Amino acid sequence: MSQIHEECGVFGVFGVEGAAGIVRTGLTFLQHRGQEGCGIAWCGPDGEIVLKRDLGLVSGVFPEDGYACGDGLHAIGHVRYGTSGGGGIDNVQPFLFRSRRGDYATAHNGNIVNARELADALSERGVLFHCSSDSEVLGALLGDALPSGGRISVKLLSHCLNLIDGAFAFLVLTRDALYACRDKYGLRPLSIGRLGRGYVVGSETCALYAAGASSVRDVRPGEVVRISADGLESSFYSSCTRCAMCAMEYIYFARPDSDIEGVNVHAFRKESGKILFRESPCRADIVVGVPDSGLSAAIGYSEASGIPLEMALVKNAYIARTFIQPTQEMRVSGVRMKLSPVKSLIRGRRLVVIDDSIVRGTTSRQLIHMLRDAGASEIHVRIPSPPLKNPCYYGVDISSREELISAGMDVDGVCRFIGADSLAFISEEGLMEAGGRTDMCMACFNRRYPTDIYSHGT
Ligand code: AMP
Ligand code: SF4
Repeated sequence: MSQIHEECGVFGVFGVEGAAGIVRTGLTFLQHRGQEGCGIAWCGPDGEIVLKRDLGLVSGVFPEDGYACGDGLHAIGHVRYGTSGGGGIDNVQPFLFRSRRGDYATAHNGNIVNARELADALSERGVLFHCSSDSEVLGALLGDALPSGGRISVKLLSHCLNLIDGAFAFLVLTRDALYACRDKYGLRPLSIGRLGRGYVVGSETCALYAAGASSVRDVRPGEVVRISADGLESSFYSSCTRCAMCAMEYIYFARPDSDIEGVNVHAFRKESGKILFRESPCRADIVVGVPDSGLSAAIGYSEASGIPLEMALVKNAYIARTFIQPTQEMRVSGVRMKLSPVKSLIRGRRLVVIDDSIVRGTTSRQLIHMLRDAGASEIHVRIPSPPLKNPCYYGVDISSREELISAGMDVDGVCRFIGADSLAFISEEGLMEAGGRTDMCMACFNRRYPTDIYSHGT
């Protein structure tokens, strides 16, 4: 089973004319969560589920504006994030399962930590798998558990979800219902919106709003929401729940115009910038945010410190993300291609540079080189996330400890490696305070994984 890490986005519509076109819009606003491939599954006129999926961006796979695919009322979709090695069309979701008891399609964001164990057990019972994604396991479990003559139901789903451990925002589409499920730890976000006489559900609220919906509420940890012609029906597959939302959603992953569990992502980042100044002040002439995900925290740092914020780095919007380039050389040149310094703002000045996180250290090291070349007199780096030291097993591409610079070096070592005059990270307490939260997953910082991590090892 998969070593592929999936940071993805899901979106679903129930009971709205032109559902697949609305899903297309939703996916376009979740494109930052995955660029490798995407797909939409929709209910055709006879209740059969039709699937279209391919590698590429939403605009490439679904070029028609208001994606034309009949007048179906229900649909789900998915955007998939790819890493350098894995993937291909087989791993692109939604997955479609045909059964004599009716078709169903699934879309998943997250990572099932016991997928290998479950897949081994299912394989021994003769269940076939079509791809290397852990996400196929839920669909396979459902198929295996479907009683003859039975249909997918909340009871059946709850039974299967109780066998699964890990992080998930799952959508399951049948001909007469859309099920929205969240893992009992609350690791991955999933929100419900109201659109006309129907409902939408998606990984981020920015996509709900873009589709024209108003926000209803988040799906709760451990909850299965059945959306049907009868409206919303809520039940819980587990009562052992937590509110361990992934901290990286707030720090890096989600869009600033999304609200996660009642907290706006931009507001969270801005607050983290203010706290970062309180914890690690410094004297400087300008604050510089690294576009895009460092900008909100830079605003907070500037407001709290009174040091003016300047747009001293300009991003080329047409260059793909540097993080997922397969080789280190490509990543290095990628940073220079992506960010350009504004020399007249930088020359002779002391800078506080704010980026959202340091993973391998490549971005910061290149950036500081560039800023020194541009004439900066001092460069102080402030990071509104704690040092990343551990891999993520829940669907965010933070893969091995060897690649994480803070796993092998203390803060002074990282500071020397990136070539800064000073470096500081926000504390875990500061991060919790930024969101006004009492619980959050921070395992990639502190190794306190909310689940067992099974065969992934420690
Ligand atoms: P690095 O150059 O490896 O230190 O990467 C740091 C940059 O990667 C930061 O500027 C972040 O914006 C970005 N980043 C952080 N976490 C992730 C992630 N899980 N996936 C992709 N990019 C990330
Ligand atoms: Fe998010 Fe880190 Fe927890 Fe993974 S380990 S879910 S990236 S906070």
